[in-house]
Amino acid sequence: MQRIYIEECAVCLSKDIKQLDQIKDHSISGELFYLAECNSCGFRFIMDPPTEEKCGTYYQSENYISHSDTSKGFIFRIYHFVRNIMLNVKSKLLIGLNANKTLLDIGSGTGYFLDHMKNKGFDVRGIEIDDKARNYSIKKFNVNVHTPSYLKEGKVKNTFGYITLWHVLEHLYQPDQYWKIFHELLEDNGYLIIAVPNHKSYDASHYGPFWAGYDVPRHLWHFNPATLQHMASRNNFEVIRKKSMNFDPFYNAMLSEKYKDSSFGLIKGAFTGLVAFITGKLDVNKASSVIYILKKLETKHV
Ligand SMILES: [Zn+2]
Repeated sequence: MQRIYIEECAVCLSKDIKQLDQIKDHSISGELFYLAECNSCGFRFIMDPPTEEKCGTYYQSENYISHSDTSKGFIFRIYHFVRNIMLNVKSKLLIGLNANKTLLDIGSGTGYFLDHMKNKGFDVRGIEIDDKARNYSIKKFNVNVHTPSYLKEGKVKNTFGYITLWHVLEHLYQPDQYWKIFHELLEDNGYLIIAVPNHKSYDASHYGPFWAGYDVPRHLWHFNPATLQHMASRNNFEVIRKKSMNFDPFYNAMLSEKYKDSSFGLIKGAFTGLVAFITGKLDVNKASSVIYILKKLETKHV
C-alpha cells in the first residue's frame, strides 16, 4: 500500500510534529494509521495517509453511507431520517444569511442537498469526486455536478453567494488549493460554510482512538475551533459564527460503541450521545461537529 508521510502542519506550517497513537480504520480496511499532532498549534492529522491516487479504495464499501442511497439496517434508516431534518436545518441557515441565491456545494454526494436548495429557488452546482454518486445526482435531480479536477482547472467561472462543505474539508488533499479557489469564487458578501468533526468534543475525549469522528484514513485532518480558525485566517477568511450539529453526537457515539464492539452499544451510545449533545449546546467549542460560518477577509491591496 502506498502512503505519504506528512512532515509539516497543514494549518501553521510548523515542522514540530509529535506522533500519537495508531488508529484503526474500523469501517473498511482494518488498517492502522498514525495520528499526529502539531506541537505548535494543536492541529491533528493522519501522519501516514494513503496517496491521493490510492485513497479511492478506502471509500469502496456498501457501508459508506455518505455516497450510498440504500436504506438497509437500523443506523442507515436513522441516517436517512436525520438527513431530511438536516436538509431543512441547512436550508434555513443559508436562507437566513440572505446572500445571493447561488450555491456551490463541494462534495455534493448523491445530490440531495443540491436538489433541496434548487427547490428553494437557488441556482445550484456541485463538485463530487465519486463517479457513481456524481452520475446518480445528475440523473436523479438534473443538476450540474462536476469533478474536482474541473474545479481545480479553473473551469467553474461563476461566482457564488454560498460555498458549502458538509463534512468534506477533512477529506481534501491539499486543502490550501481549495481555500484559494473558495476565495476566488465566493462573492465579497457571500458565505463559506464548513462543517467538520471536532476532536475537542466530549465524545472525542470519551472514545479516544475509537471515536468515529477520526474515520481514518478518509478523514485526513482533525480540526478543533482554534485550528479551523487558524487555517481560515491564513487563507483570508474569518469565522463569524459557529453552530453545533444536533445529531452528530448521537451518530458518533453509537458508531464509536460499534467500533468498540460493546454490549448494549446502542443504549450506551444513546446515553453518551446525549451527554455530548448537551455539552455541545452549552459550549459550541466542545460540540461533536461544528458548523463554521465564514466570510472573506478584505483582500490586502499592495
Ligand atoms: Zn500547526
